[in-house]
Amino acid sequence: MCGIVGYIGKNDCKEIIIDGLKKLEYRGYDSSGIALIGDGEYVFKEQGRIVNMEQTVDKNLFAPIGIGHTRWATHGRPSKVNSHPHMSFDDRFILVHNGVIENEMYLKDTYLKGIDLVSETDTEILACLVSVFVKENSCVKKSIIEFMKVVKGSYAIALVDTEDNNKLYGIKNMSPMIIGVGKGFNMLGSDVSCMIKETNEFIPFEDMEFAVIGKDDFIIYNQIGEEINRSSYISEMNSADIELGQYPHYMLKEIEEQSSVVRKILTEYYDDGFVLNNALLTELENADRINIIAAGTSYHAGLVGKKIIETMSNIPVDVHMSS
Ligand code: GLU
Repeated sequence: MCGIVGYIGKNDCKEIIIDGLKKLEYRGYDSSGIALIGDGEYVFKEQGRIVNMEQTVDKNLFAPIGIGHTRWATHGRPSKVNSHPHMSFDDRFILVHNGVIENEMYLKDTYLKGIDLVSETDTEILACLVSVFVKENSCVKKSIIEFMKVVKGSYAIALVDTEDNNKLYGIKNMSPMIIGVGKGFNMLGSDVSCMIKETNEFIPFEDMEFAVIGKDDFIIYNQIGEEINRSSYISEMNSADIELGQYPHYMLKEIEEQSSVVRKILTEYYDDGFVLNNALLTELENADRINIIAAGTSYHAGLVGKKIIETMSNIPVDVHMSS
């Protein structure tokens, strides 16, 4: 699933972004990288753990804008050169991307003729595409709208234009990304956990939307460039919720926290205690078959459920991998 953290503000963002990426480690990744924009643009990336990349970052840099990424390779093997951020061929745009592009060969053959790519990724094609469109119409916003028309697949993207250091762009379709709203800064992130240390106010994106984000404001647009008004929400998560605490790793923490999480859900949503819906029970009783659709751990839980339900009710149960 991998992750994205972006920041625009007044303060140096190296630590904020690296710390945010570490909060996203639970999603899995094979490499990581960061672009820091201050007096110039600096990109650091490495294969393997975030600490590998962190050790290469120049601690003396001051950067009030930055984008960071953990990659789970889909196009091209895990390697330093394939790691994000990727730059456009003219070094103007820097971009990180989570997701899978489905028409990357079409985009390359149609729009990037004669452009030499450095990496094997679908992502580098996206960075170059923005640049090609901006060369045609001289407007980043128009270029993003054009981009969303032609790119097929899933993407959460954080984008920086090195010729305009006052903005960060977020573009989203079918990959998670939200805006973190701060005072004197704003952020982009794959989830709440990577930004909760800095802010508890968030705005989600819908699919096929993009945002132009400054340090004090931002505007969300739909795919034809109309402004979207959406209220923010305050997250109740606190940074202790996502710290490892005494646990050696997140899996153990999640297992140990199951009973308190279930208790929290019951208190929040069931005033009179948890009662199974009768209509649902009747429907289940009358069912010819039951299908359980799940993935990973929930798939295995589904297999256990199959055994229990078939033994107790004699209704045949099939468990399917959701993918
Ligand atoms: N498809 C991109 C790549 O292979 C992004 C993968 C990701 O979501 O991390 O580089």
